[in-house]
Amino acid sequence: MGREPGLYIGGTWRHAANGATRDIINPADGTILTIVDEAQPTDATEAVAAARTAFDSSSWPQTPVNQRAALLDRIAELLVRDREEIARIETLDTGKTLRESYIDVDDVVAVFRYYARLATISSDRLVDTGDPTIVSRVISEPIGVCVLIAPWNYPLLQICWKIAPALAAGCTMVVKPSEVTPLSTVALVRLIDEAGVPAGVLNLIQGSGAAVGAALTDTADVDLISFTGGAATGVAVSRAAAPHITRVALELGGKNPHLVFADADWNSAIDAVITGVFLHSGQVCSAGTRLIVERSIADAFVAELKTRAEAIRFGDGLDPRSQTGPLVSTAHREKVESYVRLAISEGAVLVTGGQRPTDPQFGAGSYFPPTIFDHCDRSMRIVQEETFGPILTVERFTTERQAIDMGNDTSYGLAAGVRTADPARAERVARALRHGTVWINDFGIYTPAAEWGGFGRSGNGRELGPAGLAEYQETKHVWTNTSPQEVGWFAD
Ligand code: NAD
Repeated sequence: MGREPGLYIGGTWRHAANGATRDIINPADGTILTIVDEAQPTDATEAVAAARTAFDSSSWPQTPVNQRAALLDRIAELLVRDREEIARIETLDTGKTLRESYIDVDDVVAVFRYYARLATISSDRLVDTGDPTIVSRVISEPIGVCVLIAPWNYPLLQICWKIAPALAAGCTMVVKPSEVTPLSTVALVRLIDEAGVPAGVLNLIQGSGAAVGAALTDTADVDLISFTGGAATGVAVSRAAAPHITRVALELGGKNPHLVFADADWNSAIDAVITGVFLHSGQVCSAGTRLIVERSIADAFVAELKTRAEAIRFGDGLDPRSQTGPLVSTAHREKVESYVRLAISEGAVLVTGGQRPTDPQFGAGSYFPPTIFDHCDRSMRIVQEETFGPILTVERFTTERQAIDMGNDTSYGLAAGVRTADPARAERVARALRHGTVWINDFGIYTPAAEWGGFGRSGNGRELGPAGLAEYQETKHVWTNTSPQEVGWFAD
């Protein structure tokens, strides 16, 4: 039997026009998991055209909201049905542990159900003009054709945070997963097809940004690009879209501070710092990579972090004993290693980790151990740049003001944490931090009904919550005069 086609355009599964393919690698052992289609610009242009036709010429954008909500619920049901299989695919493709993959599937089921409910609640409003003969309504309509581009670290989760509200709003779309980890998105699109989403409403393109990026972004046929990925790519996407005045919603990286005051509950603070930075081997946009700790407890705190970091069991994500998996690829591990060399050259003090494991059990997998650098300061690149690996930097503060200034001294602004037993201080600090999410005595949690997004170079979009739906909507003002009279301006 031949290889299954991996592009979905206008309701038909097919191969790339020129037959190009890409090997998908299992980061746990370096083996080839499968071979997928590698789309070319012509495929991407066709996918955009299919989405354009479905938006302009089909009844999809006017589908009654109850029908669209039922489709979202159906997709959620199918995800529940295939939970095991999709989680396994996600683990094989990304390296993350199976436990994390289950959490991701459960999260996106909740997101589809949340937007199914939200779609049925009208946000239209009546405006009081003071004139009883006028009915002034502000209504929401689907924005049109959307290009949805996702990164490799949370492939299923990130694409569903876009697809669910886009479908709820009545948009049509072209979905592009990362070429490094496309497999869960292909499985998802098969479920969306099975759920009965009409042909052309959702189209799937697999391929590298270099190959298909321009066809998806430098075009007048697209109304919105929703992009999650690195800041440099976000800039390239914005540039390509600018001549067409296409809206661009960016969800970019982070260098997220975790502020720990001396009065914080010790055990939960240690636990949260460790989990916040080393979960998924640090390949999390909101990873708490910058520990900013009160000087009076810093030495003891770092000593305990060292013990805890060294006890983390990393290994194959399918092995239930593994607490975290490999990095996504050997190329990415080399990038992380270059940051370790940089930190040392900048004068940071290596506390633990820093070298790839030599134990043969890790074979050709792209593993890297939890790594901690102490005595860091804000002038260092290791403190300012996103490494996207299991690297924690430690800085010390003395006063609350200093802690806030340090937490805000970043070009990013995605997420931050503050740990203290003093509720008034927690509130002051949370308000002062210029980040899109602030966790007080918690870290790394999100929920479908609360907005997610960044300040500064972490992006300009919002996902989840009502704002996550509004990104896929246009606002229209409809003014009705119920008693038309001559205005008479030019009468005399
Ligand atoms: P990346 O920027 O390399 O790639 C992201 C996506 O963009 C991929 O699908 C890629 O193929 C595509 N792409 C690349 N060049 C393109 C171009 N010129 N035009 C159009 N598309 C192009 O990012 P990555 O390495 O896959 O992901 C890691 C980054 O994502 C990190 O910076 C991380 O912080 C960020 N991220 C942010 C969030 C968030 O919610 N803010 C969530 C997850 C990941």
